[in-house]
Amino acid sequence: MLRLVSLSSGSCGNAIYIEAEHTKILIDAGTPLKYLGSQLERLAVRLDQIDAVLLTHEHSDHIRSAAALSRRFDVPVWANAATLDALPVGFMGARVRVFPVDQPFAVGDFEARAVPQLHDCQAPVGFVLRHGGKQISVATDLGAVTPSVQAALAGADILVIESNHDDEMLNRGRYPAWLKARIAGRLGHLSNLHAGRTLAETASGREQKVLLAHLSRDNNSPELALATVKRILEGCGVDSIRLGVAGRLTPSAIVTV
Ligand SMILES: [Zn+2]
Ligand SMILES: [Zn+2]
Repeated sequence: MLRLVSLSSGSCGNAIYIEAEHTKILIDAGTPLKYLGSQLERLAVRLDQIDAVLLTHEHSDHIRSAAALSRRFDVPVWANAATLDALPVGFMGARVRVFPVDQPFAVGDFEARAVPQLHDCQAPVGFVLRHGGKQISVATDLGAVTPSVQAALAGADILVIESNHDDEMLNRGRYPAWLKARIAGRLGHLSNLHAGRTLAETASGREQKVLLAHLSRDNNSPELALATVKRILEGCGVDSIRLGVAGRLTPSAIVTV
């Protein structure tokens, strides 16, 4: 059985805990270390039991406690070569490992693959993790969905997808024009509409458990994200998707497959 919990999601900090029988990993470690430790404790997991932290990209909301976690608990931090080069000096002394992009590699029980994404940093990736015939796909911090991202999402049993903003709230909101353009651009973040359309296009007909993630505090709400995506899925006749939300600084439900 695979277990996934989003521990925190959004600009406040990102961390997703994923577990198979003999492997415990984090995708990103962007929350304070103390928060990470206390949330894992609720799942009966200690920080020193984490086998690997896989980084999606070098933005601070994804790496904040990764170096400290590595140094204090001897946890290896994995990233692609370009992302490693872009990490801050604070990573000196951390145990780092390089994974290839777009090729399978092993992390404990999992066969993993890093999928290139479009976002405003060095070499952002999402992940596909497979074990025991089940697949988890994670795609957050991306401004557009490329065919390879779409393919990565298509076969997933559990899916974490960015649903960052409502277009109208962003347009009418108080952000300066340059920031609005950055968020809505191809190197920014996915909107609710975009997430909904992508899910509708990649739905397999088999049950998929989905967490909408990286919601903006200012330009979205969990209710609005859920309602928008649900409306799109219903409009497309998709009824095989079970939707949930990854909260900001609150853990999600435990998703299993
Ligand atoms: Zn982010
Ligand atoms: Zn980012």
